[in-house]
Amino acid sequence: MKITKLHDLYFKEFISAKEIQGLVKELVVAVKKDMASDEVPLFIGILNGSFVFVADFVREFNRDCEVSFVKLASYQGTSTTEKVTKLIGINEDLSGRTVIILEDIIDTGTTLQEIYQIFKTKHLKELKIATLLFKPDVYRKELPINYIGKSITDTFVVGYGLDYNGYGRNLKAIYQLTTQPKMKNIVLFGPPGAGKGTQAVLLKDKYNLVHISTGDVFRYNIKNQTELGVLAKQYMDAGDLVPDEVTINMLKAEVEKNEGVNGFIFDGFPRTQSQAEALDSFLAEKGAVINGMVALEVPEDLLVERILERGKTSGRSDDTDELKIRNRFNEYNTKTAILKDFYQDKGNYFGVNGVGSIEEITNRLTEVFDTL
Ligand code: AMP
Repeated sequence: MKITKLHDLYFKEFISAKEIQGLVKELVVAVKKDMASDEVPLFIGILNGSFVFVADFVREFNRDCEVSFVKLASYQGTSTTEKVTKLIGINEDLSGRTVIILEDIIDTGTTLQEIYQIFKTKHLKELKIATLLFKPDVYRKELPINYIGKSITDTFVVGYGLDYNGYGRNLKAIYQLTTQPKMKNIVLFGPPGAGKGTQAVLLKDKYNLVHISTGDVFRYNIKNQTELGVLAKQYMDAGDLVPDEVTINMLKAEVEKNEGVNGFIFDGFPRTQSQAEALDSFLAEKGAVINGMVALEVPEDLLVERILERGKTSGRSDDTDELKIRNRFNEYNTKTAILKDFYQDKGNYFGVNGVGSIEEITNRLTEVFDTL
């Protein structure tokens, strides 16, 4: 199940992009069937929502036609009781024209009725209405709708031109309101040595989440000389990233082991763009999302010091050799750091100052976790 978040609400996929294209094709076939082949119709889109549907419809129509858009503006007239509605966008002479109004969705039909009445006065040859979606349960008007792509129940939908408070118009599929995913999933992010592991252990108890550290899972496998461990060891020893496919499959298996939990703190994953994409689609199948990437921001000089200090006791060979440490930073800077943009673009990146005492940093992280 694909889930998307717009503002404060969650939406799940309702009509796929592929199904929409099929509906558009069928509508075009039906409209053409009723029209003489030399007729040049004028298609009228009603702004804002119909712009995507109209764009697809007229290209599918693929014959001479004209396209225009209108918007209904209503304002208070000079007397207090008078409400004036005005159609903006049509100035040309329409007499004798075949006009087809294209709507993305018709629910109560109120706006459409007003627009229809205005067009009725323009001495057209013919006036018809085609809509991609129709809500028969809430439609209150007598107006005949000539072409309907799909009838739906009275549910709030977004995408393919339709918005929720301005967002969602650019989604390729149509989504329906859904309840908030129950899981809380957080990516704890930052360069090597930033303190992700230390903080994750403290935060997982506080928020009752499962902590998955891909580095720890690899080390466990190396210690137990599993097939995965043998494979990962060569990369880890050099401070290189383990190949995506191996890491992604391992992560999925770790998540699957924890059915029904409150959520996860991912530590050390994702580390590449394709890991991030795989994580999103894997969670989406479960009706879950990443609530946020919380990043510990620490200057690199301080990090090398910290790692060398940790290396005295951690027993990690990649913590003692400065060359390997530098390589880990190189991997981070070239492959991982870009993930900040990946999450920032979704409004999902939260940077936290990672310099200070463990407790200070936990408090800073807690402030962010509480909002997610
Ligand atoms: P960490 O304990 O997170 O510092 O990870 C130690 C090492 O494990 C890294 O330097 C990589 O070799 C490997 N590793 C951990 N997580 C990943 C990941 N998501 N992708 C690729 N390699 C990883």
